[in-house]
Amino acid sequence: MKKKTATVHRYTEALLQLGALGLFSVTAQAAPLPEHQVAVTFDDLPYVMPGKTSRSDNQKDALAANRAILAALRHDAVPVTAFVNEDKVQALGSPGTEILAQWNQGALALANHAAHHVDSNVLTPAQFENEIKEGERSIGPLAHKAGRKLEFFRFPFNHVGDTEPKRIALSEIVRRLGYRQAATTIDVEDYLFNDAYECAHSAENSADEARIRQAYIDYARIEIPYYQALDEKIMGRDVPAVMLFHDNRLNAAVLPQILDLFRQQHYRFVTLAQAQSDPAFTQEPKIATKFGPMWGYRWAQERHIPIDGRLEQEPPEWVRLYCHKP
Ligand SMILES: [Zn+2]
Repeated sequence: MKKKTATVHRYTEALLQLGALGLFSVTAQAAPLPEHQVAVTFDDLPYVMPGKTSRSDNQKDALAANRAILAALRHDAVPVTAFVNEDKVQALGSPGTEILAQWNQGALALANHAAHHVDSNVLTPAQFENEIKEGERSIGPLAHKAGRKLEFFRFPFNHVGDTEPKRIALSEIVRRLGYRQAATTIDVEDYLFNDAYECAHSAENSADEARIRQAYIDYARIEIPYYQALDEKIMGRDVPAVMLFHDNRLNAAVLPQILDLFRQQHYRFVTLAQAQSDPAFTQEPKIATKFGPMWGYRWAQERHIPIDGRLEQEPPEWVRLYCHKP
């Protein structure tokens, strides 16, 4: 048995050597090649803090959650662009900066998500400009120290301007300050599941925590192909996806399973810059809206392609109502 194993090993080694020489493809027989691309992004760094938790508990939870998220990302070598709110850095104190430093190396890059996560619908363009500038207070020096440039800005709530003149004004500010606007093409409403998860967590209801984790994974399993099909229908071809996650307790618990969903659905992970180098992203959708729809819906509206948004499945009602139950 031992001898046979040794022979098999030698045979495998020989194949691998041929593979390295380009004479034989070892990987071609393994998993099918990925068909789709996805750029993973995280919002609301350094951590989405539940309202009623004390500062020291938030610090502890933020450090633990980010440790788990970063471990999952590194395990699969996933490149990520991480969007930071300066007020959340300040609220966490030194652990906040410590967490950002960990997201500022290798395939992980920091980006600007405005200082206070304020809705641009209620800001003047001048106030909005200040939000971006103040948003650089922590991430600017960190990126500079790492020899990097802050490349992307993402609008809080993906609110890019509720009237066309305002959308153009805000877009010009983003560009003038040296940023590219980050797109978002897949939303699995993780914030909504996380709200329920935080309520179950504070009630120490571990059975409900498990139910919510499973409901979130089940919802993501449906939403990922939904948005892939939506974008392909509108653009007439496969377009790289941009996945939106939030830096929260729920994603810290289930990120490996969600990343697995992408692999099962034949995605490979690329940087946001690689995804947005696709011609689909050369121009921002010229759609003013007070809401934050995914890019597929904006592209559809721009091209006058009717889409029935009601065909998109909603998160389960019990999750939506979870924190509000009597
Ligand atoms: Zn956000």
